[in-house]
Amino acid sequence: IQQNPNQPEFIQAVTEVLTSLAPVIEQNPQYQKAGILERLTEPDRQVKFRVAWVDDAGNVRVNRGYRVQFNNAIGPYKGGLRLHPSVNIGILKFLGFEQVFKNSLTGLPIGGGKGGSDFDPKGKSDREVMAFCQSFMTELCRHIGPDTDVPAGDIGVGGREIGYLFGQYKRLRNEYSGILTGKGLTYGGSLARTEATGYGLLYFTDAMLRKNGKSIEGKIIDISGSGNVAIYACQKAQELGGKVVTMSDSTGWIYDAEGIDLKAIKEIKEVKRGRLSEYKAYRPNSVYHEGKGVWSTPCDIALPCATQNELLIDDAKELVKNGVFAVAEGANMPTSIEATQYFQANGVLFAPGKASNAGGVATSALEMSQNSMRLSWSFEEVDAKLKSIMENIFTNASDAAERYGCPKNYVTGANIAGFVKVADAMLAQGTV
Ligand code: NDP
Repeated sequence: IQQNPNQPEFIQAVTEVLTSLAPVIEQNPQYQKAGILERLTEPDRQVKFRVAWVDDAGNVRVNRGYRVQFNNAIGPYKGGLRLHPSVNIGILKFLGFEQVFKNSLTGLPIGGGKGGSDFDPKGKSDREVMAFCQSFMTELCRHIGPDTDVPAGDIGVGGREIGYLFGQYKRLRNEYSGILTGKGLTYGGSLARTEATGYGLLYFTDAMLRKNGKSIEGKIIDISGSGNVAIYACQKAQELGGKVVTMSDSTGWIYDAEGIDLKAIKEIKEVKRGRLSEYKAYRPNSVYHEGKGVWSTPCDIALPCATQNELLIDDAKELVKNGVFAVAEGANMPTSIEATQYFQANGVLFAPGKASNAGGVATSALEMSQNSMRLSWSFEEVDAKLKSIMENIFTNASDAAERYGCPKNYVTGANIAGFVKVADAMLAQGTV
């Protein structure tokens, strides 16, 4: 805490991981001797830079850009770029730290990193977003590369932003290579990348429920968020027979007792870039609430898919009281430590984001493979690989939890399974 002042999210993420690694460290003194934990909690490198751009009124605006290259023991740094006013170095360190374990869990050769800016894309014109992205990449390009660091999207960074970033990199370096993932299908993107995190979350949840004699079929589901992860989580949940009754954004949330109309959500969010308050015009029987409160809706399964610390202890109590039996994180660290422990103490199956939302980065790694081979796989091929990766992640987390004496604790299981591969690679590579 003294070494990382004013970084509560980073401290929270590290506390959760280190607590669950205690049995592994006790049984493997070589990790302690080699300072693995000290090295794992200090990023390899943190870059911070000025991003100056010109708005539509002709004024120069200045934002802060960052890239945290956390750990590359098992592959090039890989992790998203976030554009949101709340972005600061502590948030990016928490996300980069989580990414190291998540990427290891995928079984693919990718290290962990994260980046972004406090730029707010909301309300900006396309030209302003492009001006920002070009300026951001003008600095970032010297720190990334197809075998060094391959960023992707995250909150506020979708296909449009990735396109502008890629175009600027290509222009500056005169090089056409896979330096970003989440690209458009006409210039090196992978089919199924857009759907991957949401679909993957449901493949993981389905595997977890089946192992515990339950299923998604016929269950009531609360989803928070209405961005990339939430939309495709909703789609796959519906395909698997679940009934999704809520979604939210940063200004409010909707309840639709008949089940969310995903076509309407996609039109509002993906086409019009609008607000959820517009949903009522499509579904007059739905209810729109201003502010927070999505977790007050009774459900069987809760899928937090918006942002960090959006599900706190009082929400957990309400959900348990209303009979929730599974919670699976689509967002990164949406559930506070207290709330997570409350779920586990009350027998709720809990899937931690670093395992259950790993489908996005796994498919990004598949995009990197396709770029290196200069070919592209079909949607079905990528989707089948994604499903099998998610099922493997569940099995590995579940087996590790059993091996270390805490069956069904998938938080501990995922942390241990992700840690061991990275720690062994660090041991083998010496003191660096
Ligand atoms: P999007 O920007 O597409 O959507 C984010 C959603 O969350 C929006 O509905 C947004 O509402 C809401 N939201 C964002 N910040 C806040 C906030 N501070 N308070 C309340 N609501 C908020 O992002 P993604 O769907 O890509 O990401 C969502 C989460 O999933 C993040 O935690 C991200 O790190 C994680 N994730 C994403 C992956 C991906 O492949 N995209 C992969 C793995 C994890 P509004 O529209 O009002 O801003």
